Amino acid sequence: MSKKEYSFQTNLLHNNSKVDKYTGAVSVSIQHASTFHQSDFDSFGKYDYSRSGNPTREALEEMIAELEGGARGLAFSSGMAAISTAFLLLSKGDHVLITEDVYGGTYRMITQVLSRFGVEYTFVDMTDLNQVASQIKNNTKVLYIETPSNPLLKVTDIRGIVKLAKANGCLTFLDNTFLTPALQRPLDLGVDIVLHSATKFLSGHSDVVAGLAVVKDAELGQKLYTLQNSFGAILGVQDAWLVLRGLKTLHVRIQQSSQSAEKLANYLANHPKVEETYYPGLTQHNGYSIQRHQTEGPGAVLSFRLRDEKAVRNFVNSVKIPVFAVSLGAVESILSYPAKMSHAAMPLEERLKRGITDGLLRLSVGLENPADLIADFEQAFDIVEKISPDNFQAEPIINKL
Ligand SMILES: *Cc1c(COP(=O)(O)O)cnc(C)c1O
Repeated sequence: MSKKEYSFQTNLLHNNSKVDKYTGAVSVSIQHASTFHQSDFDSFGKYDYSRSGNPTREALEEMIAELEGGARGLAFSSGMAAISTAFLLLSKGDHVLITEDVYGGTYRMITQVLSRFGVEYTFVDMTDLNQVASQIKNNTKVLYIETPSNPLLKVTDIRGIVKLAKANGCLTFLDNTFLTPALQRPLDLGVDIVLHSATKFLSGHSDVVAGLAVVKDAELGQKLYTLQNSFGAILGVQDAWLVLRGLKTLHVRIQQSSQSAEKLANYLANHPKVEETYYPGLTQHNGYSIQRHQTEGPGAVLSFRLRDEKAVRNFVNSVKIPVFAVSLGAVESILSYPAKMSHAAMPLEERLKRGITDGLLRLSVGLENPADLIADFEQAFDIVEKISPDNFQAEPIINKL
């Protein structure tokens, strides 16, 4: 049966990797070999050396290409390895237009590394198409977007950006980590390269660091493959297997977490201690209607703003269920503090300009019962309220572990 007959949910399980051709195994075999015997002196087999190609990694690469609707998928040792390798498509003198509230590691790569190799950049508010259009230069080669963005969940009009990119001979790169192809398929909307931190929702269990890139066009895919093989930041086979296993439950995890995130967002949006809640599923969110037109749902990540750092510290030390950590997209809820975590690499002035203030917290909603999460938040807000922020000595987080 052709794969096209299946829905995304079914395709996660019934695909090319469903049954091993030689053994019938229903889980992809982990091929540890670094090198492959060539039985013919003149013509080499499909695999020769595992940096260049490995059947376990290839199973994952084929899977993500299929899920994103691309011509080619490539697996890297981390999300940053995937993103950095994609940037190697640029040459000295090229210019990249990049979303201003981009992931902190991508910000560091652009401003501290690529700049040394003569790649120019401009940060823009990608939600403002007029501003984007006005910043495109003759040497602009790439428009780089992240939607919803991190950590303010701003929604970029993907079709609008693609139109501008095509009109100006630029490629569009999109970091799809927050929604995954379960909720957003950028290649279908004209994006050229989709990038992922597979560390997050795709693997989903906080137990692997991995990155993926998917390319719409086979020729561009070949260029990126050459860069992957040249730079060498490939994903190891054990980790490729872990991502493949995580993918099997992607649909059910993201459905459940998104439903809970919506409940949490509504709760937070109506809480007097919360100054602002950022979630694209709230009707009052600026990007609500664009989000509805380009995704299957708003996802499982939200952010909210408390008064200041002191309120945040007291809240974090009082809340019991979420882990307080960097990262997102896991079975357990993860609360993080962008100012000191994901965006610590960003200078204070830049950070504040982007609205990443000292009162901002990001929550990635996991698979706990949402009623338990809300009750936990409620007791934490009560504690924050009862004690004067100036003399509150919250219990150190470590004592609760
Ligand atoms: C985590 C993350 C990255 C970086 O991925 P790593 O796997 O940590 O290298 C890039 N983009 C976004 C949106 C992320 O959340």
